[in-house]
Parts: sequence; structure tokens; C-alpha cells
Amino acid sequence: MARILVVEDEADIRQVLAYNLGQAGHEVLVAERGETGMALAREQRPDLILLDLMLPDVSGLEICRGLKGDAVLRTIPVIMLTARSEEIDRVVGFELGADDYVAKPFSVRELVLRIQAVLRRAQGQAASPESEDEIRFGRLRVDRKAHRAWVDGEEIALTPLEMRLLWTLWERRGRVQSRGTLLDDVWEASPENNTRTVDTHVKRLREKLGAAGGYVETVRGVGYRFADRAEDV
Ligand code: CA
Repeated sequence: MARILVVEDEADIRQVLAYNLGQAGHEVLVAERGETGMALAREQRPDLILLDLMLPDVSGLEICRGLKGDAVLRTIPVIMLTARSEEIDRVVGFELGADDYVAKPFSVRELVLRIQAVLRRAQGQAASPESEDEIRFGRLRVDRKAHRAWVDGEEIALTPLEMRLLWTLWERRGRVQSRGTLLDDVWEASPENNTRTVDTHVKRLREKLGAAGGYVETVRGVGYRFADRAEDV
């Protein structure tokens, strides 16, 4: 059971969320406005915040930026609720730091599952900080320092760029990365590359990963994401 803060100005959505999250065993706090939401986050330290993008006073983007820039509140996972697909890129951008998003209209069941995944990840990170240079995930093992990778114990050869791409997705696992973000951070946006470059290299990386290729998930219309759990792939 977690304490979840819902910041949403639409009464019917707020009620649906409060009811269903309550049914799922969570303690639910609600705020209609951004200012109230921020104040509640400070006072109550929720385990997770569901944040609507379009609020009447302060935008959800501003609140998210405020939360992630706060030394104490930054560790609280944030899931953005958004009706505007063109905002998704910015919402999940690394810079803004939202942990996930759910597009409206959403299925309550899907939202509850996303919440559980984000909570599980947050708890896992708090409990066992992982090695900074190693991936041990399902069939995949990577030793970044040695620049070596194995799938089911068999070594595969990755180029430095593929290694960087894989590592970037891994570090931000569970959070979708847009092609633009990957281009900036993996390729450092050299002008001769475009977003198709990203698709080409992801395809090649998946081929090399073979049975572990499914760990790099496609998020339609947005970008790519490293899987939450190896068992789900
Ligand atoms: Ca709204």
C-alpha cells in the first residue's frame, strides 16, 4: 500500500482515480490545483504523484520541474496525465524528469499497473543501488568497463555507439526516451544524423541482442524504453 497524491482539476477524473486507487489498497490524497498539490506534496510526502498536465493555475510541467528540482521531493516518482500527445516528448524528457506518463483517456486498469511498476522500481532503487558499470537483467549481462556483453552467457560484439545506446536506455529504464533525446545524448546531435539514425541503430542493436532484443521496447509514436522487468518480455 502506498500514499498517492492525485493532482487533477477535473472532478470526475479525480473521483474515478480516488475510488479505484482506494480499491487497490492505496491511501489517496487529492488536490484540485497545482499550488495545493505542491503544498500537499511537501506536507504529506506521498510515495507517488499523479499529476495532470493541464491545471488551472500552475501547469503540470512547472510543478514537475519544481518537484524534481527540490532536494527532498525529487525522489518522489511522478506520473503525468496528459491529453495532448504533442506534449509527451517534453513530459518524459530527461530534463523534466517525469517517471512515466499516461495519456487521456486512459484505462484505469492500465494506470494502476503503471503505478505498481513505478512504485516497484522506486522501491528497488532505494533498497539496492546497482553497480554503476554492470547490467544483470534477465538474459543480458554487460560489463561496461571491460566493454563486453553477453546474452545467455554467449558474448556478443557491440560497437561503442551500440554500447552507449544500450547503456543510456538502461540507465533510464522504464522511462520512454524520445528519438530526439537519444539523438542528443547518444549521438550528441551531430548534424548529419536524424531520428531515422536512431531507428536504424536500435534495429541493429536488437538483432545483436537476439533473445534479449525485446528488452528494448518500442513506444509507438514516442520512442524507445528499456523494459521494466525481464519476465514481462
Ligand atoms: Ca486538467
